[in-house]
This record gives sequence, C-alpha cells and structure tokens, in this order.
Amino acid sequence: MMQFTYQRSADITGALHHMRNASAAKFIGGGTNLLDLIKADVERPAELLDINPLPLDQVTEQDDGHLRIGALVTNSDVAWHPLVEARYPLLSRAILAGASPQLRNMATTGGNLLQRTRCYYFYDKATACNKREPGSGCSAIGGCNRMHAILGASPSCIAVHPSDMCVALAALEAEVRVQSCEGERAIPFADFHRLPGDTPERDTNLREDELITAVELPVEGFAQHHSYIKVRDRSSYAFALVSVASGLVIENGLIQKARIALGGVAHKPWRRPEAEALLEHQQPTEALFKAVAEELLQGAEGQGQNNFKIELARRVIIRSLKEAAGLEVAS
Ligand SMILES: Cc1cc2nc3c(=O)[nH]c(=O)nc-3n(C[C@H](O)[C@H](O)[C@H](O)COP(=O)(O)OP(=O)(O)OC[C@H]3O[C@@H](n4cnc5c(N)ncnc54)[C@H](O)[C@@H]3O)c2cc1C
Ligand code: SF4
Repeated sequence: MMQFTYQRSADITGALHHMRNASAAKFIGGGTNLLDLIKADVERPAELLDINPLPLDQVTEQDDGHLRIGALVTNSDVAWHPLVEARYPLLSRAILAGASPQLRNMATTGGNLLQRTRCYYFYDKATACNKREPGSGCSAIGGCNRMHAILGASPSCIAVHPSDMCVALAALEAEVRVQSCEGERAIPFADFHRLPGDTPERDTNLREDELITAVELPVEGFAQHHSYIKVRDRSSYAFALVSVASGLVIENGLIQKARIALGGVAHKPWRRPEAEALLEHQQPTEALFKAVAEELLQGAEGQGQNNFKIELARRVIIRSLKEAAGLEVAS
C-alpha cells in the first residue's frame, strides 16, 4: 500500500511556504483526477496538501469589467454562475459538455487546467510511456491511437489534452493567475499548456511550487455569437474526439473579431491566429469557413487509427462557425 501524509491549509502564504519545503508533495483540489492517478500508481505523492479551505472559491467582477474565477470554484458553480451564463455562455456550454454532474460538483477550476491526458498507456504501468516514465518510449505510436493527436505531436508523445473547459478558455483568451513564495504572475492561456516536444512529462509551464489562484476572463465574452461543439463516442460522460469553441463579434454584417480553439486534437487547446485573421472584416459565409478550416488544420497528420479526425475536425469547425454566425446548420 502506498503511504502518504495529508494536510489541510487555510492560508495561501502558509500553503506556498509548506510546498516550497516539502518534497514530493501535491496540492489536491476536487481530487477527481489526482486520486485516480494515485490508485493507478502513476502519481506517488509523499504528501497531499488539501487546498479546499483557501479563500479562492469566489467569482468576482473586477472594476475594469474582467471576471475573476477563483481556482477553487467548482466546474458546476462556474457553469451556472449568472455572470458566466450571461457574458461567457461559451464557457458554460463547454463545461456542461464535460464529465458528469457529480464530477463537475467536485472538480475545481485549477484542477481542470492540470488534469492529465487520458491516453490509455499513460494509466497502464505495464506499457512504455514517455510522459509517465521519460525515455521509456511511446506505446501509442503504432499502437491504439484512435483518441490521439493530429496536430503538434512529436516522436516522443502523441497525447491530447482532455479538457473541455480549457478549449473555451483558450478561445476566450483567458489569463491564468499563479502565485509562489517569489510572488505572483499571470500566464496568457495560450502559453499555459505545452506541446510535447522531447519533454512530454511536462504538460504546462507552471512550476512545481506555484499555486493557481484564479483564471481571469477579458471583457469580450462573445455572448452574441458563440458555439461549442463536442463530438465523442457517447453522447455523455466521454472525452472529446474533436471539439471546437468559436467566438465571433459581428457588426453590420461583417466579422470584426474571431477566436477559434480546437480540443481533442493536440497536447494543448489548438489555435492558429492566421486562421482567425482570415475571418476579420469578412461576411460570414460557408465558403469562408471552409477556407478557415483548411488553415486551422495546416500540418494535420493522422497516426493510423485516428486518421478520421482530420475530416471530422474540418466538418466540426465549419459547423461551429456557422452556428456562431447564426447561419443555417443542417440537423
Ligand atoms: C470519469 C471521468 C470523466 C471525465 N470527463 C471529462 C470530460 O468529458 N471533460 C473534461 O473536461 N473533463 C473530464 N473529466 C476530468 C475532470 O474534469 C477533471 O478530473 C477535473 O477537472 C480535475 O479537477 P480537480 O479539482 O478534481 O483536480 P485534482 O484531481 O484535485 O487535481 C488535478 C491536478 O491539479 C493540481 N491542482 C489542483 N488544484 C491546483 C491549484 N489551484 N494550483 C496548482 N495545482 C493544482 C493537483 O496537484 C493535481 O496535479 C472527467 C473525469 C472523470 C474521472
Ligand atoms: S502518447 Fe504520450 S501519454 Fe500516450 S503513451 Fe505516448 S508518451 Fe505516453
């Protein structure tokens, strides 16, 4: 049996100092991913520091109109918060497309950002996996890779990031606020998660001693024109094969601003500013959306079993943009 100690902390400074001096300690939020990883013997923390008593469980509107979501606000409380529903319905939709009500009631905002890949081999210690054991190899390359990446993969790892919420946060251009004993910093969402390269064991640019304190949303929430479409094997309780979050600002019949992020296709939510730029100052048409899909999927490459994802992603991008723009979508 694996032995670990358990502490609770109600004070941010105390938690950060504790973490700096502890070896092999992990923060625990809702525990919905970390506990599974401990049971599978993939994570072996010597200590769990329960951060649920920290004062990070509020959604607050800032003076400049930004919305600050504390790291301990549960996924359910974010999705159903009146300000999120009114100003960022794209985020509510994405969260409600994920997991189950029970899981969303436990899962926290910080924990969702740091949930680990659902690659089958990552959870199976009998197999080689560079993310779990650097240098051991990647069993998914040439193996079962139906769920795996078509963009941004490397010869070391072809895993995808599993979150729905993060796809919406990428399209919304959120900022992640983090704190350590050295102070606070803000990480733009596009720089938070990493591509695997030759260090797939590192999912994000967060340091071990840093605590996520909040996620901040900019004023523009695409409340009028947005879409989140998730395609999966079952209609609930399944991770995305492909998901697309789209947000448009349309004035006088022309698109003024566009943000699109893809989930289920890469090691991080996938954006390509060149594709978004194609939409600006244009009339929304299906022909334009087809060109945007081609641009977004530049360099897409299948791994064998997941080749179907390229055509699937193309179709879901076009459908999501049509839905966001209010064009007729075939049922
Ligand atoms: C059966 C099942 C189905 C699921 N389906 C989906 C789905 O369809 N879509 C989807 O998006 N998700 C899905 N999930 C994943 C779920 O959303 C995540 O497990 C959850 O969001 C993780 O949040 P948590 O608070 O429980 O994290 P925890 O398990 O507590 O922590 C996860 C990681 O984050 C770290 N951590 C937590 N909080 C902080 C913080 N504030 N600062 C620094 N580090 C921190 C922990 O140390 C740990 O490494 C599913 C999960 C399960 C079990
Ligand atoms: S894809 Fe990544 S997580 Fe999966 S087996 Fe390969 S190295 Fe491990």
